[in-house]
Amino acid sequence: MIPLLDHGYVKLIGHYGTEETVIESARMSTGKGFEGWDKDARLLEFLYRNGHMSPFEMCDLTVEVQSPIFVVREWQRHRTFSYNELSARYARMPDLHYVPTKERVAKQSSTNKQSSGGALCETEANEFRAAIQEQQERIYEYYTDAMNHLGVAREIARINTPVSRYTRMRVKGNLRNWLQFLALRLPENAQYEIRVYAEAVASIVKELWPRTYELFEEWTLGAVTLSRSEARKIGLS
Ligand SMILES: Cc1cc2nc3c(=O)[nH]c(=O)nc-3n(C[C@H](O)[C@H](O)[C@H](O)COP(=O)(O)OP(=O)(O)OC[C@H]3O[C@@H](n4cnc5c(N)ncnc54)[C@H](O)[C@@H]3O)c2cc1C
Repeated sequence: MIPLLDHGYVKLIGHYGTEETVIESARMSTGKGFEGWDKDARLLEFLYRNGHMSPFEMCDLTVEVQSPIFVVREWQRHRTFSYNELSARYARMPDLHYVPTKERVAKQSSTNKQSSGGALCETEANEFRAAIQEQQERIYEYYTDAMNHLGVAREIARINTPVSRYTRMRVKGNLRNWLQFLALRLPENAQYEIRVYAEAVASIVKELWPRTYELFEEWTLGAVTLSRSEARKIGLS
């Protein structure tokens, strides 16, 4: 289990397939199997570089995630994953809420409409943290009171839930899905809170499929895309 933020985690639940599985799947076209990494490291690179991604779909990874609801909302935009999430209709939600560190309580960026900019002063950051914590506690107390004393149904009592409250889900996807997720959620322009989850997933993917992860770093994460005009400007087209 990889602990994250103040109450979150990413836990490996299961995986299927190795990089030999990727090669064997690619070789279905010729009827040959895995021939050893001396030869097949080049094939793996050829597949990745040229976007022959279906063999990478033969490997699967399932993780369990505990994260604030706003992180889950971003995560669930990745439509090719399979998800199962805790139901606040069946069960009471956990009394766990995300309070960012004072360093994380930043000002709105003046250059990027989606991002944070410089740090707030420590007093103001702590004021914000104390205020949201107090609100989270008050909302949670009323949530439990409404169920315990008024008999309000769980599905109604939960409607005032802040997106800072933690939830849990399982996410399953194939290796290609996971690399697409990482390509979008590891870079600096992704929100910090989902980025730390992506980093945890990346460490799992790297351990399970190290050659593929290296290709991902080389040809996707660290690669630079140029437009036609940009390529022309530097004499590449
Ligand atoms: C930094 C950042 C900021 C974002 N900001 C916002 C925002 O402000 N508002 C917002 O709504 N979303 C936002 N998103 C979410 C973003 O628009 C995508 O929904 C999300 O990143 C998932 O990407 P995807 O569609 O490629 O992935 P997936 O849903 O996993 O799909 C994988 C691939 O399958 C194909 N595919 C899947 N579904 C379809 C379909 N219906 N039609 C055609 N092809 C399909 C596409 O090729 C796609 O790339 C943001 C994402 C990032 C990374």
